[in-house]
Amino acid sequence: MDDVLATVRDWVAGARRRSIVVLTGAGISTDSGIPDFRGPDGVWTRDPAAERASTLDAYLGDPDLRRLAWQRRLVHPAWTAAPNAAHLALVELERRDVLHTLVTQNIDGLHQAAGHDPDRVVEVHGTMRRVTCWSCGATAPMAGALDRVRAGEADPACRDCGGILKSDTILFGQPLVAATVHRADAAARACDLLLAAGTSLAVYPVAGMVPVARRSGARVVIVNGAPTDLDHHADVVLRGPIGELLPAIVGTTAAPLITASEDLPSIDC
Ligand code: ZN
Repeated sequence: MDDVLATVRDWVAGARRRSIVVLTGAGISTDSGIPDFRGPDGVWTRDPAAERASTLDAYLGDPDLRRLAWQRRLVHPAWTAAPNAAHLALVELERRDVLHTLVTQNIDGLHQAAGHDPDRVVEVHGTMRRVTCWSCGATAPMAGALDRVRAGEADPACRDCGGILKSDTILFGQPLVAATVHRADAAARACDLLLAAGTSLAVYPVAGMVPVARRSGARVVIVNGAPTDLDHHADVVLRGPIGELLPAIVGTTAAPLITASEDLPSIDC
């Protein structure tokens, strides 16, 4: 494991200007106290109704579900969460100007909170820090809508048109934003190194960045706590705590104390 880690460190340390693309998922934010979705402590594992509220038709069609969704938003751990060592390691890549684009499936805004230029971050599943009106498309900061809920509006409506407000995120059954998908795809084609961290790479089209980058000649490094669906596409798979591995790869901390697991990380470089 140490040799493999050293190899990846060398790749990152020797990266050309704006040549690294990072793809992140829920696993990078769990150290900040934000649970993932389907893990043992996942939001949907513990509360299946929350998964239903994440379906567009159910959300639009069921006022009771929306009221519950607003109550969940009020107490979401993201409002008080702080970026962790993994987020901060990625900011260092931007500071060195080797980061091309950071594509995230997360909606928590912690990459920007950690210090990234928002223009460098592509939020493929949207952001919970804004609301949008399903009818007229108006958007506004989430904080104002939450203030209305606290003041007694159980399901605040759009002030422009009376339409249904939702978090500006992509629900099941809702198409991704084409321009966003295009940016992610273009980044995967342009990079020398794709670093996927904290994602099981099970959700497309985002997961498709991995084979796209590979076909375009980039190296692919997957960092995750558990096996992913696309480990076989990676030059290197590093398995372990993301909050230790990313700082070790970037060099923002000393190498972590990790031990090689039974299924040894693959390397082919
Ligand atoms: Zn509206």
